[in-house]
Amino acid sequence: MDLYEYQAKELFSKHGVPVGSQRVVANPTDAVAAARILGLPVVIKAQVKTGGRGKAGGVKLARTTDDVTTHAEAILGLDIKGHIVRKVLVTPASDIASEYYFSFLLDRANRTFLALASAEGGVEIEDNADTLARVPIDPIEGVDLAKAKQIAAEAGIPEAAAPIIVRLWKAFVAEEATLVEVNPLVSDSAGEIMALDGKVTLDDNADFRHPDHADFVDTAAEDPLEARAKSKGLNYVKLDGQVGVIGNGAGLVMSTLDVVAYAGEAFGGVEPANFLDIGGGASAEVMANGLEIILSDPDVRSVLVNVFGGITACDAVANGIVQALKFLGKVDKPIVVRLDGNNAEEGRRILEEAALPSVVQIETMDAAAEHAAKLAGV
Ligand code: GDP
Ligand code: MN
Repeated sequence: MDLYEYQAKELFSKHGVPVGSQRVVANPTDAVAAARILGLPVVIKAQVKTGGRGKAGGVKLARTTDDVTTHAEAILGLDIKGHIVRKVLVTPASDIASEYYFSFLLDRANRTFLALASAEGGVEIEDNADTLARVPIDPIEGVDLAKAKQIAAEAGIPEAAAPIIVRLWKAFVAEEATLVEVNPLVSDSAGEIMALDGKVTLDDNADFRHPDHADFVDTAAEDPLEARAKSKGLNYVKLDGQVGVIGNGAGLVMSTLDVVAYAGEAFGGVEPANFLDIGGGASAEVMANGLEIILSDPDVRSVLVNVFGGITACDAVANGIVQALKFLGKVDKPIVVRLDGNNAEEGRRILEEAALPSVVQIETMDAAAEHAAKLAGV
């Protein structure tokens, strides 16, 4: 999960990295109130999970309350690389003497961690790649003050930044991030160092160790079906089409999406409505949860269940479908089922015997996709 700048700074602050005071608001009136509390001049900053906000007009200095209103009005609702600004950060304007670049990240290619630092920060760092110091970090040894001083020296940033670098490393480790980036890290006229911007990527695989990270999830920006699927532990992604898709295994589901989209061309451009991988152990409960999510999607007009029996055999999946539909009661959308692989014949027999009114079985993937697309066609 990527964090917004204000969330990244909350995290930094928790680990002792100076970030200055800040308030997050969603309308110009609240922005003015925040500016009065923080004291003018302030900087108004778009909160979107993409870079280059400055260039896109998403970062503005406000000297007066009128400026605050004007800038907040202009920035809220702005489209920055496809991200609509819903919130702005209001923060006291810093007097900046120098801007640096600093980040810790997971270096997958070298199977270690890496510090990247440059005395030329602020701008997009890609433009200054040749000024970057790259310092590998031993995961066991981590970053102590001596190491931090070494990184600062290699990058040509002041030694005063070293204690902050140590705290950024602590934040990186404690929060189980895969990226902590500060651009710019600044020093003011008095030589004080602070993080003026922040980008953090948390490792979702470690979420179970960080219940507090759930607070960072932007439920307003999340698709409600995706949120519900996530709460049930389903691997679901909402798409724009009309054929609900359930399969076992990410590869099979991806191919099913392609086949549905291809078949849908003949029926007025019908497309898949979602990605849903129910994984290896397709239990009745998982099948019921999956079907329930998909059937509650108002865009869905037909459902394609495409299962290739492996470790979980088709008879188990068929029983899962039967129980799931018992569970769900009346289903008013047609469900096309294609079972193949381990115990396919037994699975088909179970479904046939159950004689579920909403279910039709088709033996091949192409024919099943075509039938589902036809049922969803206009
Ligand atoms: P980004 O464009 O999305 O990376 O947004 P940043 O937060 O990094 O801001 C872009 C630039 O705006 C910074 O590099 C600074 O030059 C400038 N800036 C941001 N906040 C302040 C501030 O408080 N005071 C001053 N003087 N400049 C700021
Ligand atoms: Mn920045």
